[in-house]
Amino acid sequence: MAPVTPRGPLALFQTESLIDEEDRAIRDTVRRFVEDKIRPEIADWYESGSIPASELALELGALGVLGMHLEGYGCAGTSATAYGLACLELEAGDSGLRSLVSVQGSLAMFAIWQHGSEEQKQEWLPRMAAGEAIGCFGLTEADFGSNPAGMRTRARSDGGDWVLNGTKMWITNGSVADLAVVWAQTDQGIRGFVVPTNTPGFSAPEIKKKMSLRASVTSELVLDNVRLPASAVLPGAAGLSGPLSCLNEARYGIVFGALGAARDCLETAIAYAQEREIFDKPLAAYQATQLKLADMTLELGKGMLLALHLGRLKDAGQLEPTQVSLGKLNNVREAIAIARECRTILGAAGITLEYPLMRHANNLESVLTYEGTSEVHQMVIGQSLTGLSAFR
Ligand SMILES: Cc1cc2nc3c(=O)[nH]c(=O)nc-3n(C[C@H](O)[C@H](O)[C@H](O)COP(=O)(O)OP(=O)(O)OC[C@H]3O[C@@H](n4cnc5c(N)ncnc54)[C@H](O)[C@@H]3O)c2cc1C
Repeated sequence: MAPVTPRGPLALFQTESLIDEEDRAIRDTVRRFVEDKIRPEIADWYESGSIPASELALELGALGVLGMHLEGYGCAGTSATAYGLACLELEAGDSGLRSLVSVQGSLAMFAIWQHGSEEQKQEWLPRMAAGEAIGCFGLTEADFGSNPAGMRTRARSDGGDWVLNGTKMWITNGSVADLAVVWAQTDQGIRGFVVPTNTPGFSAPEIKKKMSLRASVTSELVLDNVRLPASAVLPGAAGLSGPLSCLNEARYGIVFGALGAARDCLETAIAYAQEREIFDKPLAAYQATQLKLADMTLELGKGMLLALHLGRLKDAGQLEPTQVSLGKLNNVREAIAIARECRTILGAAGITLEYPLMRHANNLESVLTYEGTSEVHQMVIGQSLTGLSAFR
């Protein structure tokens, strides 16, 4: 048989032909940024469990990815597909980097952009788009993760002000944030508040000893009689639909993002298998290896087709939350399976930070859990299929 020129896993699917020129150009710019600025540093950041968050935010702002799919207020106003592709490239670097961008753009900025007053938008969005102000999004509490409706954080109105008390848990960017979007119970149901983190009574101790998302800041938020003016409430959000609308935006980015981690693992494993000689021939030349590579390529390609389809639906304003659940469930589940399988191809070398496999696999444990666990998305889909809720 004539020799075949090897092709990358996504090239086999010709997914490039489904992406327009402008979106490709944005994607390529983000890819270069990740190659130049992130890849040389990420293993050290991961090992030390610390990132230069403020510098990174400024660089990401200059790159134009913070709130990139939002219109106005200094945001780039790109297509949703371009935003997804940017998430993919960022997560090919590290899920922690994509998390920083997702929380800033899809959670904190989107909450203000969608539900905020004109004054809140003017005050925060341009600085957040530039990376001069970092935001976090406080919904989860220690006892209320999958069921945020039960939250105990409370905001009471007091002589025209709001006074917030409670504790949030597992909050990305918390300790480095300039503002926190905090969700709390009020007499009018759940409301959102824009909390400058220098307000007296607010603190955000960092959570340490993580084995996943080590190149990302994760924190507790403590609100001890935090007094805010009446203007701090997000006027457009009443009830749980407010935070859920933001989560839906961030989950959409994960549909693409997880594929970036998977692609990076698969490309690494293919390159390694071609170099590594075992029993006198390259590991890539064994059927056992090729079966693994073929199966993983199928899942990566199918995930990409799904992501691009959902991107088109979002750009057409037709994407439903249940469809985002389909994408998040499938693509994160397959990405983590790919990361683990690729690790086997590298043998012992796969457990080190010399290669990205174990780092991606460990990161994807968090991605599987946040923004709705896999089980939560299965139940969302199950409810849509049967009309019956299995949540309680
Ligand atoms: C690194 C990291 C960063 C995060 N960043 C943020 C952030 O920025 N902001 C924020 O607000 N939150 C954040 N989170 C929190 C995240 O959203 C929650 O961890 C997630 O919602 C799950 O909640 P939990 O951990 O309390 O798990 P639980 O809700 O206790 O779930 C435990 C298990 O029970 C299952 N389960 C839950 N309900 C049901 C049911 N009805 N039936 C059957 N099984 C069920 C779950 O699927 C899971 O397997 C972050 C988490 C991590 C790990």
